[in-house]
Amino acid sequence: GRPGCECNACFGGPDCSLRTPGCTADADSGNPLFLEPYWRRHAAASAVVFSGWHRMSYVTTDGRFQSVELERQIRRLHRAVGNAVADGKHMVFAAGSLQLINALVHALSPDADAGSPPARVVATAPYYGAYRVQTAMFDGREYRWGGTTARWANASRNSSTDGSFIEFVTSPNNPDAMLREPALRGSSAAIFDHAYYWPHFTHIPAPADEDVMLFTISKPSGHAGSRFGWALIRDEKVAKRALDYVSDSIMGASRDTQLRMLGIVKAMLASLHGEDDIFAFGHDVIRSRWRRLNAAVSRSRRISLQKIAPGNCTYFKRIREPSPAYAWVRCEREEDEDCHDALLKANIITRAGVGFEAGSRYTRISLLKSDDDFDVLMERVTDLVDAEKKDD
Ligand code: PMP
Repeated sequence: GRPGCECNACFGGPDCSLRTPGCTADADSGNPLFLEPYWRRHAAASAVVFSGWHRMSYVTTDGRFQSVELERQIRRLHRAVGNAVADGKHMVFAAGSLQLINALVHALSPDADAGSPPARVVATAPYYGAYRVQTAMFDGREYRWGGTTARWANASRNSSTDGSFIEFVTSPNNPDAMLREPALRGSSAAIFDHAYYWPHFTHIPAPADEDVMLFTISKPSGHAGSRFGWALIRDEKVAKRALDYVSDSIMGASRDTQLRMLGIVKAMLASLHGEDDIFAFGHDVIRSRWRRLNAAVSRSRRISLQKIAPGNCTYFKRIREPSPAYAWVRCEREEDEDCHDALLKANIITRAGVGFEAGSRYTRISLLKSDDDFDVLMERVTDLVDAEKKDD
């Protein structure tokens, strides 16, 4: 059981140990509860307690919203993991990296008052749907959603009439876990979303060193509910515009959150290459889930998964097996045109491919949830695959 847990449709009771028979497996959200057992083991070391009078001001004594000490610890984390070059870059905190999507688009857009046409914000399909949703919400004078890069990559672009491009490059990609490069060159700025560029989810070939990079605590530590993300930005003016965006919209990331993050990042750092390295744990859990799911799906002619090769990881200093955050499912049968629907009929909730602009033949399965959630998922997938035999 998991005392104090937040239960769902498949599990009830005070410690979520009561199974609801025949429930629908929910593999939709990227809620990173796979790390909960880790933090239960490190409950005391990661606890942050502070009293009512503490941290009441909008700002720190030097008038800043951002904790200098937290910045320092995050830079240490990047250096120790080797996943990004943080030195020589400005850091901007926000309420989750979700908020930074729009902050960075704003920061990279041309000045509308100077008469520049709006930038087109693009991504290569399949892409994380929030880029479209966030951008389309604020479409206007500065920028607008421009669809997938396929529309622009081969067309002859005319920068004076088309305006500039801002491309989201998610690496590893959500939903298919591929390491990615920008599709557009020339008149475009790229925002590299490295939410999953941590050893839990991918091998780390080299530290990322792009001009504009986006990170979140949600995936490496699992504290999605704290709502904390950061950007690493080379150019001072771009960083200032992103910081102004966060100041103007929420007066800076929550200071309570920053205090908790300090405890969490320090605990992560203390674990690295030790007995209970958080990344060794995370990689282990997801690799074994990916193996189990692959073993079941390999018996199926109805559904298939993306192929991922092992890769050399500079953090683990060896070739490591794949451990993607998501399985990207393709329905192979003619009649399963709507893959999300086909899996729903087998009592599995997934995230439909259309949201990633990939078409309805595809759907996404989250591998990030709790062990219990994954066990229910495996039962439903096994039932689905076993049912094929009976059909034959
Ligand atoms: N970018 C990507 C690629 C994501 O998958 C997610 C979360 N699913 C986010 C950003 C947003 O994460 P958060 O707002 O929790 O930092």
